[in-house]
Amino acid sequence: MRKPIIAGNWKMNNTIAEGMKLVNGLTSLVKGIKDTEIVICPPATALAVVTTALHGKNIAVGAQNVHWEESGAYTGEIAPAMLAELGVKYAIIGHSERRQYFGETDETVNKRARAAHRAGITPIICVGEPLETREKGTYKRYVSRQVRLALADRKPQCVAKFVIAYEPIWAIGTGKTATFEQAQEVCEHIRKTIAKLYDKKTADSVRILYGGSVKPETIKGLMEKPDVDGALVGGAALKAKDFSEIVKFNR
Ligand code: 13P
Repeated sequence: MRKPIIAGNWKMNNTIAEGMKLVNGLTSLVKGIKDTEIVICPPATALAVVTTALHGKNIAVGAQNVHWEESGAYTGEIAPAMLAELGVKYAIIGHSERRQYFGETDETVNKRARAAHRAGITPIICVGEPLETREKGTYKRYVSRQVRLALADRKPQCVAKFVIAYEPIWAIGTGKTATFEQAQEVCEHIRKTIAKLYDKKTADSVRILYGGSVKPETIKGLMEKPDVDGALVGGAALKAKDFSEIVKFNR
């Protein structure tokens, strides 16, 4: 049985003060929930304060990126051990916004995921096709290539712990959620790709999330799909009420 994950990606939103307001609201709204893993991913500036505030609570904290080296001359980057020291448990890697605006490649995604895992941080590896690839009909091939390159040279016992987020670029921030069937089709395809690269046991362990305009109204239908194990939520994660409703999809 895979434990569902609902992760909120705050992107470049919320100062520490704003973030703490959101955290305080959310903490009381999701109190007592244990059957779903709840993750929030604030900007780097808020990580220290938020991890301290959530220590011992049922909300884990993720970073929005992580570098692959342990230390050194990499201005602006953050090493895995620096995040682990704060108590950060997850790191989003290869978000389409990073691929699109900040030169993230399949190779750097691979290196970041490896480094995160080594530091005890679970990578949430993002994949997903642009609109023209969806329209051409080659999206399954596009996504399985991203998955293959992200996981290249990793051992099955590592991969089993990874989280993959399928976020079709055309559905991010557009209000246009993929249909439940579209989300299931690609999540199932990702699982089959992992089974082919490794084995069924590994593929059955990996948690695969859907992301792209997830809202309280759409989460239930998504979660009913057998290969969708959770959601990576952007806009709706900025409101405590909306995010808590998404977390409570099964209530
Ligand atoms: P939205 O939920 O705002 O579409 O963002 C999705 C996303 O990119 C999460 O990482």
